[in-house]
Amino acid sequence: MTQRDDHDIAAVTFDHDDDTVVVIIGSGAGGGTLADELTAKGVNCVLLEAGPRIENSEFQNDEHWANDTLLWENAREGSGDRPTVGIPTWMVKAVGGCTIHWVSNSPRFQPHEFKTRTTYGAIGGANVLDWPLCYADMDPFYSRAEYKMGVAMTHGLPPMRPTNLSKIMIAGARRLGYTKVHAGRVAINQTPRDGRNACDEIGFCQQGCRSGAKWSTLYSEIPRAEATGRLELRTNCMALQIHHDAAGRASGVLYADKAGAQHFQKARIVCVACNTIQTTRLLLNSASARFPDGLANSSGALGRHYMTHTEGGVIGVFDRSVNWHRGRVGAGTVEDEAPNDPRRGFIGGYYMLAFFTGLPAYAGSLTPGAWGRSYAGWLERYAYTAGMYIVGEDLAQPGNRVTLHATKKDQYGLPIPCFVLNDHPNDMALRQHALKRATALWEAIGARRTREWLSIPNGHNLGTCRMSEKPADGVVNTWGRTHDLPNVFISDGSQFTSSAACNPTLTIVALAIRQAGYIAEAMRRNDI
Ligand SMILES: Cc1cc2nc3c(=O)[nH]c(=O)nc-3n(C[C@H](O)[C@H](O)[C@H](O)COP(=O)(O)OP(=O)(O)OC[C@H]3O[C@@H](n4cnc5c(N)ncnc54)[C@H](O)[C@@H]3O)c2cc1C
Ligand code: SF4
Repeated sequence: MTQRDDHDIAAVTFDHDDDTVVVIIGSGAGGGTLADELTAKGVNCVLLEAGPRIENSEFQNDEHWANDTLLWENAREGSGDRPTVGIPTWMVKAVGGCTIHWVSNSPRFQPHEFKTRTTYGAIGGANVLDWPLCYADMDPFYSRAEYKMGVAMTHGLPPMRPTNLSKIMIAGARRLGYTKVHAGRVAINQTPRDGRNACDEIGFCQQGCRSGAKWSTLYSEIPRAEATGRLELRTNCMALQIHHDAAGRASGVLYADKAGAQHFQKARIVCVACNTIQTTRLLLNSASARFPDGLANSSGALGRHYMTHTEGGVIGVFDRSVNWHRGRVGAGTVEDEAPNDPRRGFIGGYYMLAFFTGLPAYAGSLTPGAWGRSYAGWLERYAYTAGMYIVGEDLAQPGNRVTLHATKKDQYGLPIPCFVLNDHPNDMALRQHALKRATALWEAIGARRTREWLSIPNGHNLGTCRMSEKPADGVVNTWGRTHDLPNVFISDGSQFTSSAACNPTLTIVALAIRQAGYIAEAMRRNDI
């Protein structure tokens, strides 16, 4: 146990030569949960996080501050015809990862969404596959994830109190005949719970929740793991490569600290939770003579099947004020369109979710360069506006993928990531259906004007290291363990075999809890 000055001092430190530790890369939903679960089971962990630690007491109710301070701005390049491709992929570079920015909608997968190949059959242009697990396998871990996160309407927690926006959306939905409608299945405290305060309904949730009412690994899992004395969190430490030994086992992680100095941390096990694009990039950048196409890529599937959900939004403008920005985010959900019903002209389903944005982001969302009467008119009606976005199934397509740039490199001399995202015809049909229904919903409750807002990014990044029964079809097995390296695990949304219709984080957390149990038991048995 030593103290170092090459990165922020943690309560406990492990030597770089200590090859008994589990090294977790990324401290967001997947990595933060894994650290909590493993340390609770007596496992020593080193957690490498590329960003700084910014406590929630430092958060500011200011969109510009949040973007300038928290966003992941390392170079990336995107292409394709998905409407959101031009928007930078929304990621956080700080302890807690995207659980700082997230809205906290936390639905479960529907059972058939783990068995999409069986349910949907073969789909041209897509490569749909069943997960090597089923809903019954996940059920207990969903329940534990909901308890940890404090998800409304689970474990005896009441439904959320409606905001103005909730009331309008719920009323509109009922006029259309929808019945599975509520004020949000979100991970936000209404009363103090698990060391987190109650929601004060001031808003600015996506800029980081100052009160801690909204779940984040920043102030839940990570401090709890640190309190065990078994976690060393190294902030401002960017993992560059995973190395392996002659036997094909990961030996540790090369990383750069804040000053750019490089270190090698030995490891018994390496768990990668860098949020899909960076996870894929790290594995590709770890190519070696033995693994020339990247680590864990014997199938050629690494980087393929990148999914972000089919997204889009509709805003409605009303005669009377809505004040959509007052109160918390995640203020309304319609679940009726989530089931798979091919009679609608597409397979899979979608959720309709209330949203608002602050005035700066709203102004920026209007046609770039817009001005004059029309532009001013939309802005003047800001307080009279209501917003809804859709999250729908995004089919796994082999051509939608994350790769390394052929020439552009970062400050460490490593290629930057590129991604391609094209709509499948099914995505377009689903989006068109959803936008029509969202428009109808606002009109049903008296909207004067509506406007489609196609370029709403959802921050969901999934699928490039997908789970598969057979090693030839994917990158990891049912435990998130790579098919190729026995001691490398993937612990984020890149494990997803299908996107399902719903927001992904509850499933990421449930998978991390399940994976931690497997790892701890395998270590105990000396299997890893
Ligand atoms: C605005 C917004 C709203 C959202 N709303 C919802 C919602 O309502 N419901 C929902 O389910 N999901 C939502 N999401 C998505 C959700 O936040 C993500 O699914 C989830 O946080 C992903 O978890 P993760 O562990 O994969 O990655 P993250 O939580 O992003 O954590 C990844 C961490 O890895 C670090 N990292 C990356 N590369 C490296 C490296 N090489 N070395 C060291 N560290 C590295 C990053 O800095 C980051 O801290 C939202 C996202 C955004 C941006
Ligand atoms: S409104 Fe509630 S959830 Fe949102 S930032 Fe404030 S306290 Fe947190």
